[in-house]
Amino acid sequence: MKKERRLFLKGACVAAVGAAGASGLSIANSGGQKEDNSTNCKYALIHDENKCIGCDACSVACRETNNVPEGVSRLDIEREGPFGEYPNQFYRFTRKSCQQCEGKPCVNVCPTGAAYHNPKTGIVSVDEWKCVGCLYCIAACPYQIRFINPVTKAADKCDFCKETRLKEGRLPACVEACPTKALTFGDLKDPHSQVVEVLKTTPNYRSKTELGTRPKVFRIASQEGEIKL
Ligand code: SF4
Ligand code: SF4
Ligand code: SF4
Repeated sequence: MKKERRLFLKGACVAAVGAAGASGLSIANSGGQKEDNSTNCKYALIHDENKCIGCDACSVACRETNNVPEGVSRLDIEREGPFGEYPNQFYRFTRKSCQQCEGKPCVNVCPTGAAYHNPKTGIVSVDEWKCVGCLYCIAACPYQIRFINPVTKAADKCDFCKETRLKEGRLPACVEACPTKALTFGDLKDPHSQVVEVLKTTPNYRSKTELGTRPKVFRIASQEGEIKL
């Protein structure tokens, strides 16, 4: 808890939330993929599938915090199972939300600049005032997590609670709401952040990396079922 507070009281990353612009240079990482190294901060999220109990508190908190209308969702928890024999049965829970890709295929196809990447935070967001609802970004997203918000009529998705919480120095709503601490959030560029510590010490995976998306949502694989890439 102390580390999370320090992360968000540091100021530089919090102050950067909300600024818009294009990203630039990249370097190679240990996985052989290119990573954007031009951002001031690089926010990332870890979902520990072993700690997840599928309670949906995260998606409820997301909906309330970000005013997500009924019928669409920025965050879903998908359930697989049961695995094993009664009474020793288990489920596997997988998070479905924007992966905050550094490759940002959604941004690359947007003709108006409505889909954009903030170079100071690494967060991919939507400027709803610039969105013309062409659906190009929805078609380009390999994770199928974008949707047209029926109220704003603009493309929508998870932005790590950029406007609703991050700019006030608060953790994303899902992270705060999770009763089992299955979610860890922080800056990959801070070597002392909790996300860096967890990623250094715990085997993890990311989804569809073969497409060059370079997701910033990491997953700690459940001991049950098979990894769904
Ligand atoms: S998951 Fe989809 S919407 Fe999110 S950054 Fe990647 S391509 Fe864009
Ligand atoms: S739907 Fe909106 S955000 Fe998506 S590509 Fe079209 S203009 Fe850009
Ligand atoms: S709140 Fe936490 S435990 Fe509950 S479904 Fe979400 S990630 Fe899993």
